Amino acid sequence: MHRKPVLPLPEEVVRRIAAGEVIVRPASVVKELIENSIDAGAKRIRLEIKAGGKNLIRVTDDGIGMNRDDVRQAVARYATSKLSSVDDLTRIQSYGFRGEALASIAAVSRMTIETNTDETQAGTRLEIEGGEIKELAEVAHPQGTTVTVKALFFNLPVRRAFLKSENYEFRMVAEAFRNYAIVFPEIGFELINNERLVVNLPPVGSYRERLLGLFDRKTVEGLVEFQVDNPVLSLHGFFSDPTQVKGFSDVQVVFFNRRPVRNQVVTRAVYDGYGPMPSGGHPNFVVFIQTEPSRLDVNIHPTKQEVRFADERFLFDFVSEAVRKGLGIQRRSQIEDTGLFVQERIIQDGEMPGEFWQLHNSYIFAQVASGYVIVDQHAAHERIIYEELLHRQQEAKPQGLLFPVTLDLSAEEFEAYDRIKVKLRQMGMETKVFSGRTVVVESVPAGSYMGKGEIREFFAELVKTSLEKATVERELAKLFACKGAVKAGQRLTQEEMVSLINRLFACREPYFCPHGRPVIIKITLEDLDRRFGRI
Ligand code: ADP
Ligand code: MG
Repeated sequence: MHRKPVLPLPEEVVRRIAAGEVIVRPASVVKELIENSIDAGAKRIRLEIKAGGKNLIRVTDDGIGMNRDDVRQAVARYATSKLSSVDDLTRIQSYGFRGEALASIAAVSRMTIETNTDETQAGTRLEIEGGEIKELAEVAHPQGTTVTVKALFFNLPVRRAFLKSENYEFRMVAEAFRNYAIVFPEIGFELINNERLVVNLPPVGSYRERLLGLFDRKTVEGLVEFQVDNPVLSLHGFFSDPTQVKGFSDVQVVFFNRRPVRNQVVTRAVYDGYGPMPSGGHPNFVVFIQTEPSRLDVNIHPTKQEVRFADERFLFDFVSEAVRKGLGIQRRSQIEDTGLFVQERIIQDGEMPGEFWQLHNSYIFAQVASGYVIVDQHAAHERIIYEELLHRQQEAKPQGLLFPVTLDLSAEEFEAYDRIKVKLRQMGMETKVFSGRTVVVESVPAGSYMGKGEIREFFAELVKTSLEKATVERELAKLFACKGAVKAGQRLTQEEMVSLINRLFACREPYFCPHGRPVIIKITLEDLDRRFGRI
């Protein structure tokens, strides 16, 4: 075979290929346009389609609108008003951020944008066909934006031919529409198909009211609503009452930070939470999961319909437990409200762990009445030090260092040290200034493992720590916990393990370390029996 030269693709082909990743069917256009309207702060969104969206898709909103320059920019690839630096990618709040949706839609359709930022003045109308701007003119338009997309894939006949029936495409569009309507009850939504009103949803004050506008009363009344929080994740949702699960479901949808997504981990965890269901039942569920944007990677899929959570095992366990408990499917556990967050009591009162061995010098295994627990020794010790320092009645006990540690602090470190040296003493770290910026550390909080290296790191991190009056104790406790906790890989004696477990269970919140990671995992005999196929 002859080798052909490697040549760059013509611009127009590149544009269409890129568009093909984002826009695969009318429902993708609908998704992108509705997201833009929501990002623009719309209070009302109207969606009109014809022939399942193949002939017409029109989204009208009353959001902030665009001026003439904005519109021209908006249809260029990678033009966005929502993201300006790489750092922003780790804290994405808006739906859009890649700035490619409008350009992609424009590349494969005949699109018109009519928009206005201020209705006392003229608005802008832009017509674009297959990516080529045909017209840019003034137009009368109320504040907000109307995007009209006609003849989708007119210039990609193969893709157009692969669209499914009008009915099927309509169902996909309706599902996309429904998902945003569910998650934004405060926005009014209207859907018109082939000039007939399908649904008109006025703005309402709660999710349940919005669900009533979308599903029949009996379905909605059969949903149990609850919320479970921990420091990392919060789950709020509506779930079929376990006694009313049917052989098919009307709705199963998961939102992460208000983004509708497909997430198998959550779906499997919900089913796991229900446990075995009569005759292969399928529950209805609407799950809202909130987490810090930095824990969520929304950039793994071209249309952002899939997201990845940093710790999927933790996500699975959390969702499954939350569903089980929220639905009152009692195993042996219960939810206890600590006021701060719902703490999961995974070990029964009086169920103290028995004899402790250590796995890979990192995890402690211990038998309990209903199975066994695995404790992350570092996280456990962090929790212990943190609480012992924070909830102490008087000054913490110092633990003298055999060899006092002498440190030459930087000016910045010394300044921070000088501000909080009294606090340090109260928390068990005794220090003396030797001369200039040379400080001698004579003791560390009792029960912590701090050698010269950890003490050095402690001071280095002090300058990055917020030393505001209101939070300084908490921050220092966290820092002591972090530096003073036994490390993974450190061998522990029987006695040390016993003491660690006893002190852990004396803590108020033994199940999470100060950074919110789990400390204990429990495996019940029931879990084992199930895995070995005994039940
Ligand atoms: P992205 O949403 O990723 O920024 P888009 O191509 O979807 O990219 O939109 C490009 C830009 O056009 C947006 O950043 C926004 O500034 C503007 N825009 C799009 N739709 C609307 C709308 N309905 N109302 C106001 N501005 C809009
Ligand atoms: Mg967008």
